Amino acid sequence: MSKVLAIILSPEEGISRSDRELLAAGRILADPLDGQLVAGLVGASVEESQAAEAIACGADKTYLAGDPLLVDHNSEVMLQAVEYLVQELQPQAVVFIGKTSSQEIAARLAYRLKTGCVLDCVEMSVEQSSGRLLLTKPIYGGKAVALFAASQTPAVVVLRTRTVDPAEPDEARQGDVETLSLSLDSSRVNARVVERVSEQGEGVKLEDATVIISGGRGMGGSEQFQVLEELARLLNGSVGASRAACDLGWVPASWQIGQTGKKVAPQLYVAVGISGASQHLVGMAGAKHVVAINTDPNAPIFKIAELGVVEDYKNVVPHLIEELNQRRTN
Ligand SMILES: Cc1cc2nc3c(=O)[nH]c(=O)nc-3n(C[C@H](O)[C@H](O)[C@H](O)COP(=O)(O)OP(=O)(O)OC[C@H]3O[C@@H](n4cnc5c(N)ncnc54)[C@H](O)[C@@H]3O)c2cc1C
Repeated sequence: MSKVLAIILSPEEGISRSDRELLAAGRILADPLDGQLVAGLVGASVEESQAAEAIACGADKTYLAGDPLLVDHNSEVMLQAVEYLVQELQPQAVVFIGKTSSQEIAARLAYRLKTGCVLDCVEMSVEQSSGRLLLTKPIYGGKAVALFAASQTPAVVVLRTRTVDPAEPDEARQGDVETLSLSLDSSRVNARVVERVSEQGEGVKLEDATVIISGGRGMGGSEQFQVLEELARLLNGSVGASRAACDLGWVPASWQIGQTGKKVAPQLYVAVGISGASQHLVGMAGAKHVVAINTDPNAPIFKIAELGVVEDYKNVVPHLIEELNQRRTN
């Protein structure tokens, strides 16, 4: 029977929303193949409770690949564990969800297996006539889309986050759980975490936000982002930024949305002083409604905005805040 292996890295805090997206995507491949969706939980402390969550979210079987060496996302030993799982299961596809650690491991895994790898995949399906996996990914900074047909197995795929709706847990689902005993080579641990610094974050995480107010170079400076924070607060949203604003040091790099930043899919995305470069659009392509405020009527952002305001943001955003405040008090 064909197997699709969904790799869930470090699930210590449970199966996350993006893991549920991964499991939903795994079913998209496993079902037309009449195959089995197998979840491989790889981490320092993987437990039956996480396996049960994975099964509730669509896995037919879950393997627990735990080892104390798998702490701190050490990619070298993570790779060893994932490779072991793949060799044991011989799946038709190995699917990861798009985090930096996944991309690193997926590419190296494909190299070791001498197979193909598609990173940043936004759509996956199975060709009915041949059973081949078809994988779509944006290229040239989102200006074009490439379709790949997997000619080797296993196909190694990293799915971009927020491109598939997350699987809803069904507690009634049943599945097997098997614990693997790994023998990892500790001499391969060549990096050590010496300190952890948590970023202070307020409000909703960008990836989970339903409203995002995003600012670009047109904001003019760091302090000017305060109006965006105020607007976001009134709309229960989060603040994002273009790379230009992050590179200028106006806002933290973790606010960056785009090709080399976060991929978001809010209901409402308000782009303020952002030109709409393709590398930015790639990160917000999942937004349902886009509003743009920009002084330049020819800014590319207006091509994708549902509502465009050609105006200096200083003449628009404060009025929006005032209006929202007034509605709150009424
Ligand atoms: C490999 C690569 C990866 C990249 N990855 C990313 C990425 O992940 N994310 C990203 O964002 N970019 C990325 N970029 C950079 C991208 O190409 C653009 O340079 C960047 O997005 C531009 O940011 P911006 O729109 O804020 O600035 P600009 O392009 O300078 O646009 C500023 C806009 O503000 C408007 N404006 C000025 N003043 C006002 C005002 N008072 N009120 C309203 N509007 C005003 C202007 O008309 C202009 O349209 C990447 C580039 C490369 C080469």
